[in-house]
Amino acid sequence: MIELTGVTKSFGTLEVLHDVDLTVPAGSVTVVIGPSGSGKSTLLRCINHLEKVDRGRVRVDGELIGYRRVGNKLHELSERHILKQRRDIGFVFQTFNLFPHMTALQNVLEAVGKEAEPRGRELLARVGLADKVDAYPRQLSGGQQQRVAIARALALEPKLVLFDEPTSALDPELVGEVLDVMRDLAKAGTTMVVVTHEIGFAREVADTIVFLDEGRLLEQGPPAEVLDNPQHERTKAFLSKVL
Ligand code: ATP
Ligand code: MG
Repeated sequence: MIELTGVTKSFGTLEVLHDVDLTVPAGSVTVVIGPSGSGKSTLLRCINHLEKVDRGRVRVDGELIGYRRVGNKLHELSERHILKQRRDIGFVFQTFNLFPHMTALQNVLEAVGKEAEPRGRELLARVGLADKVDAYPRQLSGGQQQRVAIARALALEPKLVLFDEPTSALDPELVGEVLDVMRDLAKAGTTMVVVTHEIGFAREVADTIVFLDEGRLLEQGPPAEVLDNPQHERTKAFLSKVL
């Protein structure tokens, strides 16, 4: 389970996240929607401490992320400890971020080591790439590269996986194959937070949709509520543009 309480984050004088409370139960899928610049990526980056929050707390399965409590003060964890926490949190980026000089299998095994090779092959098969284990990124389509990135995110058996617009950089005809893999992960009970503009996917797969606007979590609820019966004018205006 992921719990954000009172998460606030500024860059200089710009407050990008304002007092965000969000709970993502284990095994559930939360889809984050909202306009460009509303703070969606920053929200994900705060969850794994790629950004430090100014106020508030992030907990994953009860464990405070990025800090430890000493008396009634919080101390930032050492880099080593933060990296250890990040191993439990998979992250899939818009731009894949594969290592170009490594094969698909080597990319998947990059953080886990060679001894996990059977599992690496199994993960590539799971994302439909059993026949591409030895291909280099430049020999793969965008959709295939993104599926390798998803397999890599799963290699460490994370407690949750964060996706930041995983299909936005893809040609339209390649979007479906990536969403299919994500749908399978959701069915298998993977805890996921997904930033996406794919409203059809959100409607079908999300347990909860949250709408972020200027750093505020304006709306959250099941798809039928947020998409079909939004409470805020801002949500209505946003949906009228993307639906
Ligand atoms: P998009 O849909 O375009 O990806 P987003 O909702 O993901 O947008 P963020 O990337 O979280 O938005 O950015 C929120 C705001 O914070 C923007 O105004 C952005 O310019 C600003 N911002 C993000 N990262 C930084 C940074 N490292 N330094 C300064 N400002 C930043
Ligand atoms: Mg973003």
